[in-house]
Order: sequence, then C-alpha cells, then structure tokens
Amino acid sequence: MLQCHVCQSDKVDCLWPVRDNPEYLVYSCQECGVKFLLPQPTDAFLRDLYSKSYYDAWGIEEYSGSVRDMKLSTFDLRLNLIKKYKKQGNILDVGCATGFFLEGASAAGFTPFGVEISDYSFNIAKGKFGEEALFQGILEDCPFAERSFDVITMSDLLEHVRNPHTVMEKVRALLKDDGIVMIMTPDTDSLTHWIMREKWVHYKIEHLFYFNKESIRLLADRHDFQVLCLDPARKTLNIAYFYHQFEIYRHWLLTPLIRLLHTLLPPKMLLSNFNVTIGEMVLLMQKNDHSGGKTK
Ligand SMILES: [Zn+2]
Repeated sequence: MLQCHVCQSDKVDCLWPVRDNPEYLVYSCQECGVKFLLPQPTDAFLRDLYSKSYYDAWGIEEYSGSVRDMKLSTFDLRLNLIKKYKKQGNILDVGCATGFFLEGASAAGFTPFGVEISDYSFNIAKGKFGEEALFQGILEDCPFAERSFDVITMSDLLEHVRNPHTVMEKVRALLKDDGIVMIMTPDTDSLTHWIMREKWVHYKIEHLFYFNKESIRLLADRHDFQVLCLDPARKTLNIAYFYHQFEIYRHWLLTPLIRLLHTLLPPKMLLSNFNVTIGEMVLLMQKNDHSGGKTK
C-alpha cells in the first residue's frame, strides 16, 4: 500500500503528472500535507541531470553583473538570519554547488565545509576550499565527525533528497548540541503555488518532496528539533529575471503582464533589485534541550 514517506499515513491522493513528464506523478498526503513524486527517478537519470548543463541553466558558472548581485544579496539575507544565532564556527552547506554561499560564509567569519553530489560543482568547490573541507556524494555517506558543526545549511536541497528522514538523522548526528540548522525549500502553501497549481515552477522530476509549513514542522519534530523560526524566504530579484522565468513557464495572466512591464520600464529599472517572496520558506531549528529534565 502507498504510504506517506514523512508521516507514514496511507491516506494519500494522486494529484497530477509532472509537466512534460506524465510518467512521474505528484501525490499528496491528507494527514501531514507533504507532496511527493513517484516513481523516483533512477540514480543514473539524476546523475546525468546534475551534470554541468544543469548548473549552466541556473547561471552558476557565469556569475556576472546583475545575476551575481542578486545571488550575493540573497545569500546575505540567509547569512544575516543565521548570524542572529551563530556568529562563527564550522558551517556545513549541504548541496553547496560551486561554493558560492560558502564564500560568503567564509568572508563573514565561518569555517566552510561542503557536501555536493555533482562532479562538476564538487571540483570547483574543492578548488576553493580544499579537499579536506569537501565531500562528494550524498550527506548520509559523508565522513565528517559527529557533533562537529555549529551551523548546517540546506538551501534548495531537501526537495531533492530520496529520504528526508535519513537526511535529518545525519544532520542531527553532525550538529553540535548547541548548533543550528537552516533549511530553505519550496512551500506548497505559498501564493505562487495557489496561482500556478500544477504549473508551479517547482514541480519537476528532480524534486522528490514538496513540503508546506505543517509537514516541515512535523519532520523537525520527529527528529527532536525545535523550530526557532519559519517564514517565507525572501530572495533578491529583478523584473528582468521574472520576465525570463515567465517566458519559460508561461502563465495566462502573469506572462502578458510582465511582458507589458518589460516594454514600458526603462532598462535601468528592469535590473534594479528588490527582495521578494516567490514561494519558498526558510526554517531555523536547533536540537531540543533535554538537559533540564524535560521529557519528549
Ligand atoms: Zn504524511
């Protein structure tokens, strides 16, 4: 019988096929609200997908001009949130890609470590931070010492993993008792999901899990974490970026609206950055403290 991977309920509905890939279906759990993809693609399929071209499409190699500014500013938003709780120490970025976030964390005073599955990105990150600081593969297999990290970050990561429970177990093992975890992932309760429904940009083959606030809280709770904050994640973007996205992911109302803006606004305004929420959430959590005799 089909079961929810997060809460084990068997009250699961099939919602819709993934855009352009009807053999992959999105299911939804009635109990905890998590959505998930079945069947999960094979390892070989994902390995091919996460090749160099995957990162090219996201403009990771050629961080230049406005894209670089947008990324840096978005990472600053994340770092500033972390620094409210931790100002220094060992930071592990899971799914660190080419290490752009870790560069910022390192400049802010943290000691950077990373886990990355893609050959291409791993080699670039290794060149920046050294062999000792990087592990190529999935988090569950990494050899870093238990209780060695002050901060563990997972941006755009949890939706990609095959098993969120084994990831959370490993995070718990690697984290110091007073450490904090930051997770950023798409939120199926967001306004953009409500507008786009099955055309939501985050529904794609490599996204195996889709959380909302309820299901991610449940996941944290199951692994004995206390949620410190859970908010819509702001990103730094500009109109030129939206124009590009909505030409790829067409919407009956938003695509013509943004085309109109794109025609009317002067080029300088198209590239001016602003902070906006586009359907992701950010969560900070720490281990529950049982030292005071509190029972679980
Ligand atoms: Zn569930």
